[in-house]
Amino acid sequence: MNSEIFDIGLGNNDTATREDAGRDYVAFWEKQARSLAWFEGWSEVLSWKPPFARWFVGGRINASYNALDVHQKDPERAAILWEGENGQRRKITYGQLFCDVQKFSNALKSSGVKKGDRVTIYLPMVPELIVAILSCARIGAIHTVIFSGFSASSIRDRVVDSNSKVVITADGGYRRGSIVKLKETVDAALEGLDFVQNVIVLRRTGNEITLGKRDVLWDDFVKNHPASCDAEPLPSEHPLYILYTSGTTGKPKGVLHDTGGYLTHIGSTFRWAFDIKDSDVYFCTADIGWVTGHSYVAYGPLICGATMVLYEGAPDYPSQSRMWDILQRYKVTIFYTTPTALRMFMKFGDSIPNSFDLSSIRLLGTVGEPINPEVWRWYYTVIGKGRCPIIDTWWQTETGGMMISPLPGLETIPLKPGSAALPIPGVDIAVVSEDGTELPPDTKGYLVIRKPWPGMLLTLWGDDEKYKSVYWSKYPGYYYTGDYAIKDKDGYFWLLGRADDILKVAGHRIGTAELESSIVSHHSISESAVCGVPDDVKGEVIIAFLVPKDGVAVTDGLRKEVIEHIRHDIGPIATPHQIYFVSKLPKTRSGKIMRRLLKAIASNEKIGDVSTLEDGAAVNEVQSAFDELKKQIK
Ligand code: ATP
Ligand code: MG
Repeated sequence: MNSEIFDIGLGNNDTATREDAGRDYVAFWEKQARSLAWFEGWSEVLSWKPPFARWFVGGRINASYNALDVHQKDPERAAILWEGENGQRRKITYGQLFCDVQKFSNALKSSGVKKGDRVTIYLPMVPELIVAILSCARIGAIHTVIFSGFSASSIRDRVVDSNSKVVITADGGYRRGSIVKLKETVDAALEGLDFVQNVIVLRRTGNEITLGKRDVLWDDFVKNHPASCDAEPLPSEHPLYILYTSGTTGKPKGVLHDTGGYLTHIGSTFRWAFDIKDSDVYFCTADIGWVTGHSYVAYGPLICGATMVLYEGAPDYPSQSRMWDILQRYKVTIFYTTPTALRMFMKFGDSIPNSFDLSSIRLLGTVGEPINPEVWRWYYTVIGKGRCPIIDTWWQTETGGMMISPLPGLETIPLKPGSAALPIPGVDIAVVSEDGTELPPDTKGYLVIRKPWPGMLLTLWGDDEKYKSVYWSKYPGYYYTGDYAIKDKDGYFWLLGRADDILKVAGHRIGTAELESSIVSHHSISESAVCGVPDDVKGEVIIAFLVPKDGVAVTDGLRKEVIEHIRHDIGPIATPHQIYFVSKLPKTRSGKIMRRLLKAIASNEKIGDVSTLEDGAAVNEVQSAFDELKKQIK
């Protein structure tokens, strides 16, 4: 693999933690759990009845208590520095958040929400979203957050699936300067769903809304409720939330997380990965509608008492410099974003970030997709000015928290652009062959997890059988991640994309990530997506969709150059059969490239085939991307 190594870290050198984890992973996690506040200790650290794990059995804990009550020695400390897309700003202290959450918790209780009830939250990225989440957690209601870009049918699916008693939404949200009418969408979604008893509506944009019998405005809902509500001591395995996955590989799955194990995992990884200090200003760009937003916007920073920036809108609105403007204004020290966003910033050109003072930054991170080495180097040089470690964090909605990542808060290790480095302490991850045997170094295979870990999902909501078949049937005893990877001689992991996105050309298996990274390392290309389509002779041929950088002309010369570049970089075997230049790629709502859709386009399949691949909500978006792409294909 890539032999380039960056020897950069923060000087931390805690070897004891890894040694500890290596000796006994159960005892290790037990020790980590002690950094949280528990109402009652556990009688059993891990009950493992494969494939069902229960952590800290007998223990009692509350997530909201760990996020708020424990920080009230310093109520003036800033929890959230919020910036609306329209430029509005608010600072919310730990004291204020504590007060808001208790009021809202009391209101939820008096509206009849009980422990174990489900509450759907469909809000823009406003501080009230965090208030709603923590209030559910406080009283033991199970929250299920839906990304506020989703359509009525996808809300409906999730509300029905989770059987939610209450839905929390807003009149509208801002997106690229216009108002997205969220309440209207919720009205359409809930039509005829009589089991929903209340819809709570936050006033955000002031657009006109109709209030029906079960609807109540947020301010009226909390009015007259006292700002004191004790956190419920919940069993450790009590479900904290249901979250539906991105749906990149199919219909979203309702992932169910517990409380005690999840918080242990999130608290530990947040500290190890981000080296969080009281002086830090942390900024994660993920929407709370995705797992990154749950673990490393809502819970991680708050249980560690961090100060974070929360931004409501699009990263390139009203101008391409919005992100850097935020980083400069709040003197952000830790920045965590996605490869997709980075590729976009990179496409806009270096002069934009270069005109801002980004000297406060000391640590950079990415998540969500493999990061191409070229993009990694850009992030490192242009944003980090060669001073900051980059943590490439691999994990999934199902894992709850980071599983493979450099951990600068713990140890200084050399970084290799494009590799997520080492598994976190206390987890056992391997690359195995089709038959489940561990592969020697530098061999491509399937990524599996061989032992339970604390952030592990409890099950899929209401569907234990599906949980068993999706994750535990391919390799009995091992959790199957669905990703393709390589472990190199130094034990570093290289994520090569989804196992079902693998290209099989003339008997060779090529990871989509590997090929896409090679293409993006060409100086004229900003994004790329490849897929295989069936071919009589070779089994499969490669089709590549490429987005040129701003200002680059699409010519036959460029096409030839790219082909030459791939032949030289990977080998003739990886030469694309066809190259399409497009202005953008179809992505899921969480910003991941939908390769399955590209495959359908390239194989001339009917759109009907595509809609079954994606959940109802994304279909419209996917459909228009599909049509656009077809129009653009030269
Ligand atoms: P679905 O499971 O419904 O198809 P999804 O897998 O996209 O959706 P998520 O749980 O949000 O839903 O994404 C997890 C996946 O994202 C991982 O399995 C992996 O493919 C990819 N991923 C996340 N982080 C990284 C990373 N640092 N490097 C490479 N891939 C990553
Ligand atoms: Mg997945």
